[in-house]
Formats: sequence, structure tokens, C-alpha cells
Amino acid sequence: MKSSTARKSSSKKSMRSQKQYVFAFGTQTDGNATMRELLGGKGANLAEMAAIGLPVPPGFTISTEVCGYYYDHEQSYPKSLTKSVEKAVKQIESQLGKKFGARKNPLLVSVRSGARDSMPGMMDTILNLGLNDETVKGLADVSGNPRFAWDCYRRFIQMYGDVVMGVQARTEEEEDPFHQILSNMKKSLRVEADNDLGTKDLKLLVKQYKTLIKKRTRSEFPQNVMKQLWGATSAVFGSWKNERAILYRQQYGIPAEWGTAVNIQAMVFGNAGDDSATGVAFTRDPANGEKLFYGEYLVNAQGEDVVAGVRTPKAISEMSLELPVSFRDLEKVRTKLERHFKDMQDFEFTIENGRLFILQTRNGKRTGLAAVRIAVEMQKERLMNQQTALMKIPAESIDSLLVPVFDPKALKAATVIGQGLPAGPGAATGRVAFTAAQAELETRKGNKVVLCRTETSPDDLKGMLHSQGILTSRGGVSSHAALVARQLGKVCVCGASDISINYEKRTLTAGKTVLSEGDYISIDGSTGLIYKGMIESADSEVKRVLEGGLKPSKSYTYELFQTVMKWADKHRSLKIRTNADTPSMAKQAVAFGAEGIGLCRTEHMFFDGDRIDYMRQMILAVDEVQRRSALKKLLPFQKKDFVGMFRTMNGRPVTIRLLDPPLHEFLPHDDVVRRQLAEKLDVPFDFVIDRIKALHEENPMLGCRGCRLGILYPEITEMQVRAIFEAAAQVLKSKTKIKVQPEIMIPLVGFREELADQLKIVHRVAKEVMKKRKVRINYLVGTMIEVPRAAITADEIAKEADFFSFGTNDLTQTALGLSRDDMGLFYDEYQSKEIYNKNPFASLDRRGVGKLIELAVDQGLSTKPDLKLGICGEHAGDPASIDFCHKTGLNYVSCSPPRVPIARLAAAQAKLRNT
Ligand code: PEP
Ligand code: MG
Repeated sequence: MKSSTARKSSSKKSMRSQKQYVFAFGTQTDGNATMRELLGGKGANLAEMAAIGLPVPPGFTISTEVCGYYYDHEQSYPKSLTKSVEKAVKQIESQLGKKFGARKNPLLVSVRSGARDSMPGMMDTILNLGLNDETVKGLADVSGNPRFAWDCYRRFIQMYGDVVMGVQARTEEEEDPFHQILSNMKKSLRVEADNDLGTKDLKLLVKQYKTLIKKRTRSEFPQNVMKQLWGATSAVFGSWKNERAILYRQQYGIPAEWGTAVNIQAMVFGNAGDDSATGVAFTRDPANGEKLFYGEYLVNAQGEDVVAGVRTPKAISEMSLELPVSFRDLEKVRTKLERHFKDMQDFEFTIENGRLFILQTRNGKRTGLAAVRIAVEMQKERLMNQQTALMKIPAESIDSLLVPVFDPKALKAATVIGQGLPAGPGAATGRVAFTAAQAELETRKGNKVVLCRTETSPDDLKGMLHSQGILTSRGGVSSHAALVARQLGKVCVCGASDISINYEKRTLTAGKTVLSEGDYISIDGSTGLIYKGMIESADSEVKRVLEGGLKPSKSYTYELFQTVMKWADKHRSLKIRTNADTPSMAKQAVAFGAEGIGLCRTEHMFFDGDRIDYMRQMILAVDEVQRRSALKKLLPFQKKDFVGMFRTMNGRPVTIRLLDPPLHEFLPHDDVVRRQLAEKLDVPFDFVIDRIKALHEENPMLGCRGCRLGILYPEITEMQVRAIFEAAAQVLKSKTKIKVQPEIMIPLVGFREELADQLKIVHRVAKEVMKKRKVRINYLVGTMIEVPRAAITADEIAKEADFFSFGTNDLTQTALGLSRDDMGLFYDEYQSKEIYNKNPFASLDRRGVGKLIELAVDQGLSTKPDLKLGICGEHAGDPASIDFCHKTGLNYVSCSPPRVPIARLAAAQAKLRNT
């Protein structure tokens, strides 16, 4: 048997080696801002604030590792956790001289989630925990304010009942049952505000709430405070996997494995009287980035009242008159936070009887415009350098500088029906939808909608994603609607108290105007104005400057845009090309900064006017003679288009892909159009029908597409190559003497032999044209890598190719065995089960398709070290995929014209992130 000292020392040792799951903040602080992974963003920043001497109520964080454990072990906890939590509670008690669960001077705590990246409003929070039928009396005694104590208790029961015990509205139309009891009471007492309820009323409310819980759950509301604490902790961990959190994670690419931390913190009370308040503030304006103190507060209220938008709060500037001393304290905190965290902060505060506390701080969510402005101005203020400033701007946010605004002429004629707070800039017009489900239904029908709610809750996230804009009649600029809208880049007007919404009647009333569901409404998220009807929108200032309609010096937004683009160009190594099929698309892309064309889909040049008929004639041809006759008619069109492209690109490289039409896209499905086609081509109707039947393919995307077409009908390749070289010769020999750099790209190659076959035609025709026109044209011939076999045999294919361009649309389709056109049926289910983290056609599946690309790059370069490498699938405009392309060593990405600015910024960020 071991001696007792030996036992002690071995247990000490095991204590020491035991994993730490609980981290305190307060007089003793275990964490800091760098520990986001373990403590979550909120926990890490609470620790940091405590450490730099900001007034943070003491508390502790249960780490994200416990969340992982919880889900891996059938929702249970590590053994040592109970003791650690009890010890941490004791530490709070001794710092404050209060006791958890005691009748005398009871300690109350809040229990909040906190993931590594903040997910505002997506997970659960419980306030005032620790109250029961006894401690409520203790709180009444110690505060000398029984009304306040009972107000806290009723709030706690409501939150706990909802979040932990699941007592909620059972349908979208049903009102929250706690709200219902509350509003019934207010109605019967003929009072408006919650604050008008007296102690007696609140006591009755507590009783009614408890009865509701018992009725719905057959369980009593728990009186044991430790039981309350564990119930709340499990609910918060559980909320990591609720539907809205999953949806949010998908939207922002947050991995499910990260998990959330749980923060347990001593409560301070903003509802302790008229010298108490609670609020949310931003160190700069999150809507437009301007450097002014921005936020809102409510006197005698708790934090949830502000965030949930239940009462419309006052602007922070009013506080300088109402609570001047606290306002000065708050100003000091504002400066200190920004200097310390070196970013715009969004912080929550509470003033309890005149004493200021900071409850959380985080880098503030902001609109795209604000992100750009804050980064540029903070760099000027030397709060950060150029590289950091670039990393602070989510690449997608550049888009919001380019979003349309209402057309000024149309706006003059429009009728204003109300005004709310401008919370997410831009112009949105659409049909009124009152529920998330309706918004989804309308958008599926192809209609645009504006989601109109009295206030939004996180459950509306799906509806918000489907909407052009969001309008709420209650809630301030930091309400859930505003926060989420800003982040989603949605137009948002909130707190529009002059409109009222009746869900039952499905109407929105503003003065004398009554709009029903389905009517058109327009909202301006930059001014807060609400208009009746549909309003045309107009180009953004940046676009107008780029197109020459506005002087650069007249637009600050343009100046911001240019600054960021200049910085980005300085720091990136990936080239940015564009996918453009017409000179006007190419022109737009060049204005946005494209350095070449990475994909010109020649089949798209045949969609218009007479061309489609000649194209159809060519497809329907029964023999080479007929085909050549149709091709002859197509050649001048092609040549003219290519001349336009070369001129517009003014010496920049132009990658032209030979025909890759899934034939079904070009043939008419309708008998009337088929008859018209027969007449036009002067062939019998039956001939058209027979040919369409003969050409029918069960799987056209895997059928006679890509290079297969040119191998089957070499005359098609011949015509296209001739058109390219004739056009190049014409531009080269014209007076302007524009340089041309054609790059001819062969699609859907899987075998080296396919490429070799087409290459022969390209070189032969090129030689013929150059000889005839007496010019020398430098050109490249390469291939798309868009089927797995091409990636796997890239070493062989590289022998024939000057360049590879990854066609990740088809590569995803073929590698995942997943149709580009038909994934709708199961996609939602796959997303909700988190099988797909993101849509694999929008963001590259790095672990699957990415591996094929890496393999092809390695193999290709082993054969040909100077092989040029690019990507032209949709993924080329997605920042996460661009990061991958940079790391894999591609030379360029080629995306659609509007995404060029995003790609420029994302490419710079990829370089900065990876060096
Ligand atoms: C691709 O497959 O990624 C590609 C760019 O070609 P397309 O989308 O035209 O098939
Ligand atoms: Mg393709």
C-alpha cells in the first residue's frame, strides 16, 4: 500500500498533468487574446480586457475542447470538469463577496456561447442564472429594489424555459408563449411598456411562467442553482448544432469541428434603476465606416432588450446628456479598445448604478464599404500597416462598393412611405414577404423579395439569405436583423417605427398606404428610406468612374476602391484574368483590372440572332459538305468577334477555347421552334425531328462535347482556328498595330492522343494563315484539365501542351460524379448534414478535386517546367479557392468580370497569408 504522502504527491502530479478545461478571468486571468481556438473569441477577449485593466465582471470560460468532448461522448463531460467549475464559481464568489444560490447576497451569472469566430445570435445565451424562489428575495433585499429582483427572475425563467427546456412557439405563425402571457397581462392592466409592470404583477408573471413550463414539459422549473448552471451549459453546447448555427457556419465556411466555448460571468445589472443602462457600441460606424462613436443604449434594461430589438434604443450620442459621467467613461473605453485591439470594436456594456462594466468586445461586423473605409483610414492613422489593412478586408466586401444604387431619376418619382435606420447599404426592390418561408417560396419562383418583419430572430436567417433586403419595424442598428444583414451584404432598413406589420392579415401599413404580401416595396439601406413599388436601380459611383461617367475626384468611394486595389496589386503574385465571351464583357473586366482573358467560350458567341440558326444548321448537318456550308456562314461572325476581343484586350493574352457545346443546349425543344427552324433552313420538318432524335444523348454533359466534337468533325476546329488567326493577322496588320497573344485551348481532353489530334489541325491552319497573310503570330496551344483522367495523366498530356487551365466546373462534376445541373434534389439535405461544407461548385473541394489539381500541377511541371498554369472554372472567383490556387503554384486565375476586384484582393491576401 502506498503511504498517504505518496498518494498525495501522485494525485498532485495527476492534477498537474490534467488537462485544463476551465480558464478564469478577473483578478486572476488564465487566458489572453491569442487563445481564440481554445477559449473562443469572446472568452479570449474577456481575458485580454481583464488583463489590460478594463472593468470586466469576473468569470470563467469552459474551453472549446469540452464542446468536442461533449459531442464525442454522447453529450457528457470530462470527469474533472465538475470540480473545476465548482472551484471557478468559488473564485467569483470570493472576488465579489457574493454566494451562488445563497439567500443572502446571491451571485447571479450569465451563460453565453463563444465560438472562435463570432456567430452573432446563432447560439444560446442565458442571463440572471442563479435565481430561484429564495435567492430572488435575497436579490430584492440586497438591491433594496424588489421590483428589479422579480423583473430579473421573470426574465430568467423565460430564457431558461425557452432555451434549456424548449418552451417555444410551435409554428411560425404562433407567438412566443412567454410573450403571449406578458402581452396578455399588459393588455389587461392597460399598460404599454414592460417597465410599467409593478412587483405584484411580476410575481404573478413568474407564477404563470412556471405553470406554462410545467404544462408544456411536465417538469418543474429547477430551483437548484448548480442544476441550472449545468442545464444552461449543456444548452449552449447543444446550440452549436442547431439549424441556424449550421446554416451560418456553411455561409461563412466555419468548420463543425471548431466547437463553441461557454462563458460564465458574474451578472451586472443595467435594469437596476434609472442610473443604470445597457448598450452596444461600435468604435466606428459599422454601416459606412466613418470614424464616429456609434451605438445605442437603453436605460433601466438588460442587454437582451437591445440585441433582440424588443425596445427601440436611443442613439449613443444622447447619453452625453442623459448619463454624462458614464458617457465620458465610455469614450475612454472606446479609445483604449481600438488602440489595443487595433481594429474597429463592437462592445457590450452595462452601467449598474452609475458604474461602467464591459461585457464583451469583438472585431465589429461591418458592411463591405465600412470594411474598406476602416482599413484604409486605420492605415492612414498608423494603427496598422498596409499588409494588415489588406488582410482586414473580407475579399467579398469589395463587391459592396460596386453594388447598384437607386436610379436618381426613378427615385424622384417614387413615393416615400416611411423611414427607418439605415443599417445595410445598397438599393433593394422586391415583393413583400412576411415570413422566411414565403421569402424562400417567392425566390424559388424567380421573384425578388424584401423580407418585412416586426423584428427578426435568428430563425429568419434562411429567409434573409433569400431576400434582396430586410425591413424591420422594431429594433436598432445592432439588432439581429441589422447585424446579420450587414454581414450577409444585404440591404437593410430597421427600426422603421412608422410602419406596422400585421402577420395575420399579411399587410404592411405605413400611414395611408397598405401593402399586401406580394406587392412591391423598395428600401434604401444607405438612407433608411422606404418606398412604395418597384424602383429601377443605377450603377455605383465606382462603376460610373470606371466607365467615365463621373470624375474620380468626385467620389470618395472610388478613392477607397483604388487605394485597396493598388495595395492588392503590389502584394499579389497570381495574375488575374477574366472569363469573357464578348468585347463588352472584356471591356468591363479590363476596367476592373483584368490582365487577360483566361476563357472565351466560343459557343457562347453563337447564341444571338442568325448565328444560332447557322449553328443549328451545322449541328444538324448529315455530312461534311453540309457542315462546311454552315461553317462558312459562321466564320465571318467568329472572325469579327475575335477582332473585337483582340482590340479590346490591347495586347493582353486571350485564351480562346474551341467549341464545347453540350448539343442539347443549342437544339430547340419545342415543336413550334423546330418547325420555324425547318422553314429557315429550307428542310422538311421531319428531317429536323429525325436529326434531333439521332443526336439525342442520355448524358449530354458526358457526350459529344469538347474535343470529341473536333475529333469527329475536324472541319469545325479548322474553321475556328482559321477565324482566330485571320482575326489576329487583321489586328496585327491594322494601323493601330495592337499586339496579339492568342492562346488556343482544347476542351475536355482526357488522353494525350486527343490533344495531339487537335494540335495538328491548329498548327497546320495557323501556318497556312500566317503564310497567306505574311505575318508571324506568337501563339500557344494548351488544354483544359477538367476530367480526372487528364489530371492523372498530366505528365503525358503536358508533352503536347503549352499550358493547362483547370476547368473546375467539369472537374468537380466528373470527380464527384455529381451533375452540374441536377444537384438540387439532395443538396439541402447534404448541407444540413454538413456532408458538404460549402457548395462544391462554388468553393473548391480541396480535399478531393484539390488533390487532382495538385497532382496535375506536379506531373505537368515534371514534364515541362515552364508549363503555364491557370484555372477558369467558377471557383476562380472564390477567395478560399484562390488561396488554394496560390498555394498550388498556379500562374493565374480567370473569373467572371464582376469578380475581378474580389480576385485581385483575394490573391494579395493569399500571398500575405502564405508567406
Ligand atoms: C469548366 O468546366 O470549369 C469550364 C470552365 O468550362 P465550362 O464551364 O464551359 O464547361
Ligand atoms: Mg468545362
